[in-house]
Amino acid sequence: MPPAHPFDFDALSPFDDGDKLKEECGVFGVLGVADAANFVALGLHALQHRGQEAGGIVCHHPEFGFNSAHRFGYVRDNFTNATLMQTLPGPLAIGHVRYSTAGAKGAVIRDVQPFFGEFSMGGAAIAHNGNITNAIALRRELIERGSIFQSSSDSECIIHLMARSLQKGIPERMEDALRRVEGAFSIVAMTRTKLIGVRDPLGVRPLCLGKIGDGWVLSSETCALDIIGADYVREIEPGEMVVIDEKRGVQSHFPFRRVPSRFCIFEHVYFSRPDSIIGGRSVYETRRQIGVELAREAPVDADLVCPVPDSGTPAAIGYSQESGIPYAMGIIRNQYMGRTFIEPTEQIRNMGVRLKLNVNRALIRGKRVILVDDSVVRGTTSRKIKQMILDAGAAEVHFRIASPPTAWPCFYGVDTPQREKLLAATMNEEEMREHLAVDSLKFISLDGLYRAAGEAEGRNNKCPQYCDACFSGEYPVAPSDMIEKGFQLKAAE
Ligand code: SF4
Repeated sequence: MPPAHPFDFDALSPFDDGDKLKEECGVFGVLGVADAANFVALGLHALQHRGQEAGGIVCHHPEFGFNSAHRFGYVRDNFTNATLMQTLPGPLAIGHVRYSTAGAKGAVIRDVQPFFGEFSMGGAAIAHNGNITNAIALRRELIERGSIFQSSSDSECIIHLMARSLQKGIPERMEDALRRVEGAFSIVAMTRTKLIGVRDPLGVRPLCLGKIGDGWVLSSETCALDIIGADYVREIEPGEMVVIDEKRGVQSHFPFRRVPSRFCIFEHVYFSRPDSIIGGRSVYETRRQIGVELAREAPVDADLVCPVPDSGTPAAIGYSQESGIPYAMGIIRNQYMGRTFIEPTEQIRNMGVRLKLNVNRALIRGKRVILVDDSVVRGTTSRKIKQMILDAGAAEVHFRIASPPTAWPCFYGVDTPQREKLLAATMNEEEMREHLAVDSLKFISLDGLYRAAGEAEGRNNKCPQYCDACFSGEYPVAPSDMIEKGFQLKAAE
């Protein structure tokens, strides 16, 4: 059976109609504190927005060796259990939260990271955020050469490549392995004594370094440093590997060929938490600025600016500030709507978006409403929200979208529907407006998004400062597995 691939798009979440792109992972690691696994559990809890379906922790104790726990569900439902946490002792631990495509394809515990490998020089565990774009080819080669895979995850290739390396140390073997890997990776790994962090040469996914007392922390986002009271030190740079131990502290080097970075611009729009700092910029501030740019690019006469909660909120605030149109909470989100609560039965699915969102009728009635959302993926949720607003008596509905049209799938660690299911892949803006049946629909331009993300001159088309492939179709790393499966790249202009 071919390996399930994270971008085997057929399985869409029954919980939200597959109408949002989903970050697939968050990683976190701590060295040099007592009971590091407890800190990792808290860090993973703060990174839960990056993956809700499963989580795992691996730790090491000088006397008790390596221990691990992998569980489905929220961190708070598993890694708060005192009995479980007592089985995870020691001053060094790493963890991972993941989103997998729903259904049987991803839902097996052996796919839950961190992955562990026993080498002649000792054990090592790795937690990976991103996606390996040549994983199918690597896996085929490794299996032909005798590797026995335990999971269907692309990330397991790294462990097998490490096992085949002739290097003496684990960090050196990891370097060797990662030189064979294409795509996006932000990795937190550990040996018995070392915490290791690596980012791919383009730095597509985030990874940062923190300090807690005498100890060190690696995290996908800064919001997870805050929860454990760690100080933010800096980002791990694209192409950088840091090897941290208690004696020598942080040792940094750059094992890959240096190339201009291409951080994922969608982290700014949607994936990262608004209280995180990325590239020295507040994610919240970037999102607010997107709203400012959007108001300049796409003004409209209206009575209210309302966010589609929660990710549209900062952009709606920015739009309101720039346009002078009052901001209002026209849609209220049920804060207690956990995925675990919803049984994905047909009956519940049909209730759809009303389970999560409700219109503030008294506010909306008779008003011309601007709805600000982060993105339009399939358009199904946008249609439902528009209908809810009209049913509540709105006079007009105008959509303003805080990202350009999402016309291409992501192959770098984000779950995306198949290209033909992306509304923007088959329709232009006016056709999408007609399809959504709204009074107006405008997306921020790519240049406007770049300006909001701190690039005053907009996008450098010769050498874009970010990865924006899901908008532009320009993939900074060729998705070779998907091309082999028949994916058509954008024709050269
Ligand atoms: S394709 Fe889109 S979501 Fe994927 S890494 Fe690039 S910008 Fe981010």
